Order: sequence, then structure tokens, then C-alpha cells
Amino acid sequence: MAAKYDVVVVGSGNAGLSAAVSCVVQGKKTLLIEKHNLPGGVASSFSRGRFEFDPSVHEICDVGAGDDLGHVGLIMEKNGIDVDWVTVPDCYRCISKYSDGTPMDVTIPAGREAYIDAIEKYVPGSREPLEKFFDLIYEIRLAKVYMFDGTPNDPKYMQKHFPNTLKTCGYDSLSVMKALKIPQKAIDIIGVYWPYLGVPLDEVNFFHFGNMIDMYVTRRAVVPHHTSHEITMTFMNRFYELGGEAWFNCRAEEFLFDGDKICGVRTSMGDVECDQVLANINPHIIYANMMPKELVPEREKKLYAARKNNLSTRFSMIYFALNKSCEELGLTDYCVFFAGTADSRKEYENLKSIDNDYNILISYNNIIPDASPEGTCVISFTKLFSDGKDWSEMTAEEYYKAKDKMIEKCIEDVKKNLNIDITPYIEEVEVATPMTFARYLGTPEGTPYGFEVKSWDGVIARMTDIEADFNIKGLRHIGAGSFFGDGYSSTWINGDMTAGLACADLEEGGK
Ligand SMILES: Cc1cc2nc3c(=O)[nH]c(=O)nc-3n(C[C@H](O)[C@H](O)[C@H](O)COP(=O)(O)OP(=O)(O)OC[C@H]3O[C@@H](n4cnc5c(N)ncnc54)[C@H](O)[C@@H]3O)c2cc1C
Repeated sequence: MAAKYDVVVVGSGNAGLSAAVSCVVQGKKTLLIEKHNLPGGVASSFSRGRFEFDPSVHEICDVGAGDDLGHVGLIMEKNGIDVDWVTVPDCYRCISKYSDGTPMDVTIPAGREAYIDAIEKYVPGSREPLEKFFDLIYEIRLAKVYMFDGTPNDPKYMQKHFPNTLKTCGYDSLSVMKALKIPQKAIDIIGVYWPYLGVPLDEVNFFHFGNMIDMYVTRRAVVPHHTSHEITMTFMNRFYELGGEAWFNCRAEEFLFDGDKICGVRTSMGDVECDQVLANINPHIIYANMMPKELVPEREKKLYAARKNNLSTRFSMIYFALNKSCEELGLTDYCVFFAGTADSRKEYENLKSIDNDYNILISYNNIIPDASPEGTCVISFTKLFSDGKDWSEMTAEEYYKAKDKMIEKCIEDVKKNLNIDITPYIEEVEVATPMTFARYLGTPEGTPYGFEVKSWDGVIARMTDIEADFNIKGLRHIGAGSFFGDGYSSTWINGDMTAGLACADLEEGGK
């Protein structure tokens, strides 16, 4: 064994970066190892010709500003991370069909009052139930702060201060919105964000969904000015500044144990000794490939079996650089959802086919004018899949055809829905599929979302049982496959909280 560290963080995705910085802020000797030659996982950037593309970001939530910092904003402040954020003014435009089959084309601004006004305009009679909805999700915000502040929860305090949160947190989002008497068309509009959690409204827990709406609508979304690589480098610089050590092109192969307690990591660059490991790796991979089978707890084996078919959403991204500005093209929105239907259950079923109609257009220059050289723009399309098997079963020829088909579909979506032909202006185009993400991130079937937050496996259920999730001494998994689910914000929070648990164990002399 070479050197000895307090903590080894394996993988520098969002959770790994957040965990690594949190450990050095707490004074721990920390090594970060990353199999790729760059940090960040999907929080990165890549270049084609004269353009730089963000591989993933649409919008990031829970940052906040000024004296209304969100959970993420507070973590960043505590850990000395200062990113140049740009606020996203509108939530989205959505071109789809309401659940009753009638056409839908709505543009919804951020901010509670503007959001309610807009929905009232599209669906008269929504205002009153929407006010109640926003009161409820504000209460959930306060309940969340109380529940996750690291001190024990007092049920009596919760009953007194968060009665409606307790009443609704056991229910799915559709049932709660119906109970609030929100008209179905307004539910369809609110539900546009469902794919950000990957589970349809009749299945995703209201606490989780309502809180996401609060964060995106009330607190507003942000994006980094200079791609998500900027965020990653801000974390890395802070990590180095506080004495952290990082090895790139270094793959963790196996976790090493002394009895039933972790004692190190076998890497492609040699063995490393440590007291704690935070692994930014999907737990399926850890248990199946990276540790002795006899040390995998029975509970984890059962969870593995239950989650086997519950991997969350997989993505394809189609990136275009156009040699005309958004203004010249008439692309006025930042984010446009093209969905076959606003019925989330039906759409979730449609997403099982790789030929599904679902697509999200992001036009970066509309909020970041210098996202590309003057007179040009960069746009991306995100296609979602709720099943991953088609991709792994394709021949090489079928794979290239599928990529070409997605490019054509994006061009067609913009032509059909926005009446804009981008074809003559395409200077660069690139496609990432679930196979690309599997290769770069090492996640099962390329999912960047971990496991579906279904009713039996929601964030609340996971959070109330955190210690049970971490029952291998000294080894904790972090990232989208861990307790807080997917997303930039969730994985930063998850990394920071889990680093706190590991550091507390170190203080107590190791678990
Ligand atoms: C196309 C797309 C669009 C998205 N848009 C948004 C959005 O707009 N807003 C939002 O909030 N979220 C978005 N997400 C989701 C979000 O990006 C992810 O949920 C989150 O970044 C996952 O972070 P993670 O910590 O799980 O790490 P990952 O990104 O999965 O990174 C894991 C890291 O660990 C490394 N690693 C793995 N195995 C090993 C090993 N054995 N040894 C060493 N290193 C290893 C990998 O190389 C990688 O760098 C998007 C995702 C995608 C793919």
C-alpha cells in the first residue's frame, strides 16, 4: 500500500466533487480518484469546431440568491464554492396535448405570482387551488429544512408546524393535486416537469414533486454562465486549495477490507489505504463487481433484486451548432418541451420505445448570449427513454441509423412545431446515446438518474432509513443512485451529507 488517507472519494461526478470538498473543508486528508481524464461526470463540456457544448445542463434548482439561499446555495456558501450563475426567467414552453387530447401550447414564467397568472389565463378557475398548492409546497420547503438539518425530528413539532406536509407526504402527486381541486388541464401544465424526476405523477411522491416545483418555480432555476465544466472546476480548485489530492485516469477496481471494515481501494494505479470510502458509483456495480460477495449485506441483496428493473430514465442528447443567431432564426424560448401527451403515465409508457416523440429543446444563447461566437447559436435536444434494452441490443449499423434518425427527428420537431428550418445552418452536430453515457459515467445502461423514485422507493422512504443504507463499515455510495435521487442539486446535497456522516465516523474513531 502506498499512502494512507482518511477518505478516498471514488468518482468525480457531482456527488463526488461535493463530497470531496466537504471532506477537505472538515480537515480530512482526502484523495479523489477518477477513471476519466477529466473531472465532473456529466458536469463537463466538450468542443466541436469553434463551439463548446454542455453535455447535460438544462436547469439547476435549489441554489437561490441573496438572503434566500436554497439547500444547494447554503452548501456552496459553507464550502466556499462561488459559481457565475445565470437565472432562467421562464420555466418552459410546452407544445403537446392535454390529457383530454386537445392541443396545448403554453409558456410558463417562473415566480409564484407570474406562474399562477399564466396558468389561470390558460385554464380559468385554477387560481384558488393553485394558491393552496403553493402554500402547501412552501410548507414542505420549511418541513424539509427542519427534517434534514441533522438534528433528530420531533413528531409533535412536525404535527404542529407541518400538518399538511404530514397529511400529503404519503400520497402520489396526482392524488394530492386532484384533492386540492386543481383542474386537470392545470395539472397537465404543472406536470410538464415530471421527467426531471423520471416517474409519472400517479407514482411520484408529492413531497418530492411538490418540492421540485417549489425549487424551480418559486426559487427559480439557474445555469452556469460557462457550461457545467465551470462548476466542476470551481469545486476542483477549492479542493486543491484546501490540500486535496486528485488522481485522473485512475480506475477503482475493488474495495479492500480488513475483516468487515473497509481499509482501502485497489486502483489501476496501485492500492490505497484509507479509513472511509465515498463511492460515486451505482450500488449495483459496487455489490456485483467491486467487493467480496460474502460482505454484501442481506438487505442490499434484496434491494438489488427489487430495483433490478427500476433503473431510472436514460437519455440521448443531440447537440447542434448553427451559424445563425437565435434571434435571426426566430428561436425565442430557452426551453421547449415537445411531448406527445401531457398525460405523464401515458408518456412514461411511450418512453419505453426508442422511437418515442418526446423531446426537449434548449437554446442556450437565449439566456447566455455569449454561449457561442457572434451570429451563431448552440442548441441541444434531450430524448428520454424509460427502458434501456433496445440500445444494448443494436448492431453497429442499427446504432448509427438510430443516431441519424434522432438528428432528423430533432430537425423535424423544430420545423413542425416552431416553423423554423435549421437544416441550412447546421455547422456541427453530435449525438450522445445511453451507450455514450454508460461508457463515460460507468452507470448501468447509462442512466444518470439512478433508481426510479417510485412510491415504495421514494426519497422520503430512503431518507428515513439512511443508516440502514450504509451498513458496510466505512463504505458509502453517493450519487444519483443513492438516497437523494437524480439531478445536479440532489447529488451535491447527497455528496455533502454523506461526507458529513463519514467525517463523523472518523471523529468517533471509525465505524
Ligand atoms: C443529458 C442529461 C441532461 C441532464 N440535465 C440535467 C439538468 O438540467 N438539471 C439537473 O439537475 N440534472 C440534470 N441531469 C442529471 C444530472 O446530471 C445527474 O443526475 C448527476 O449529474 C449525476 O451525478 P453523479 O454524482 O451520480 O455522478 P456521475 O455524473 O454519474 O459521475 C460519476 C463519476 O464517477 C466516475 N467513475 C465511475 N466509476 C469509477 C471507477 N470505478 N473509478 C473511478 N471513477 C469512476 C465516472 O467516470 C464519473 O466521472 C442530466 C443528465 C443528463 C445525462
